Amino acid sequence: MRTAALLLLWFGCDASEAQAPASSPAAPQPVPAMAQPDPGPRAHVKLVTFGPFPAELRAAVAEGLQAELQVEVARLPPMDLPADAYYPPRRRYRADRLLDHLRMHLDGEPSSVKALGLTTVDISTSAHGHSDWGVFGLGDLGGRASVISTFRLRRRARDTEHLRFRVVTTAIHEIGHTLGLPHCTEDRCVMNDAHGSIATVDRSTGHLGPACRRQLERRAPRSLGAVR
Ligand SMILES: [Zn+2]
Ligand SMILES: [Zn+2]
Repeated sequence: MRTAALLLLWFGCDASEAQAPASSPAAPQPVPAMAQPDPGPRAHVKLVTFGPFPAELRAAVAEGLQAELQVEVARLPPMDLPADAYYPPRRRYRADRLLDHLRMHLDGEPSSVKALGLTTVDISTSAHGHSDWGVFGLGDLGGRASVISTFRLRRRARDTEHLRFRVVTTAIHEIGHTLGLPHCTEDRCVMNDAHGSIATVDRSTGHLGPACRRQLERRAPRSLGAVR
């Protein structure tokens, strides 16, 4: 298949150069995408559900991550919510502890292998001057582990499509962190996290802005993920 495409490209170049007048420089030839070698995935992301999680949303997350970040996505067997992550005073789970469990799970894997935990329970971390602050998600910057929760994303979602958008956007944001992207100030970029509010998620395009896209290519080039 690839040999045929390359041959066609070569013949195409030859024919158009022969038709060009001898005095004019040869016009640049477009290179068909088929002729480019597949650069492979940027990273490998393992999805882990903590407790029950809607299969439809998990599938949407997998599709969204593949499309936006060019990562390979695999599913791991579901895990029970770890008892040591439970925070009784607020009856919710510490996102940091969930990340600890995911990191243990990835022990021995190359750094291009990441994990994204998915859960429906409320999760929290220390942020904004609060020791226990409820969040949509949390991800290691340039690390391995991340987690998202639908608990807060469900609030006042208009319909299932709106919820799906919020969940996929948050998943891209957290995996973006593991790929080395910090928060940015690009208007409507998926890595913008103004006040960590749901309004910022809803205003997002769901895509990386140009600056974050360039940074992603620098920090996590696709050749890195090809090495396992
Ligand atoms: Zn963030
Ligand atoms: Zn950005």
